[in-house]
Amino acid sequence: MHDAANHPKPRPTLLDRIFPRTPKRLARERRTIESMIRLYCQHEHCGSDLCQECAELRDFAFLRLTKCPYGEAKPACAKCPIHCYKPERREQIRKVMRFAGPRMLLRHPVLAIRHLIDDRKEAPPLKKK
Ligand code: SF4
Ligand SMILES: [Zn+2]
Repeated sequence: MHDAANHPKPRPTLLDRIFPRTPKRLARERRTIESMIRLYCQHEHCGSDLCQECAELRDFAFLRLTKCPYGEAKPACAKCPIHCYKPERREQIRKVMRFAGPRMLLRHPVLAIRHLIDDRKEAPPLKKK
């Protein structure tokens, strides 16, 4: 059980009260990342389906999501104290986000808005194993 003395329960932020972290968080993040990488690739690389480089980036991002220790309570990676991305992968995904972020509002508005909300969420304390 939760030891309240050693691990005081953090107060949920206003954002978490309005948009609670739901079990759909990781699935939504997968869809968002895939859509962003596709937009980026179509424009910057191959013009149709995912090129090999972008497919590898997507697979890498999916693997990090699967292994993310926060699970469904995942914060925005940019606010994460762990930063599990290698520097070159981080730079790649940053480029994708910079390009695709503003375009997502037109192409996938619901995902884009949820992403903007998810992106403001802080990292919750991790349970000790
Ligand atoms: S950077 Fe942090 S939040 Fe993002 S996937 Fe890695 S551990 Fe999870
Ligand atoms: Zn590509």
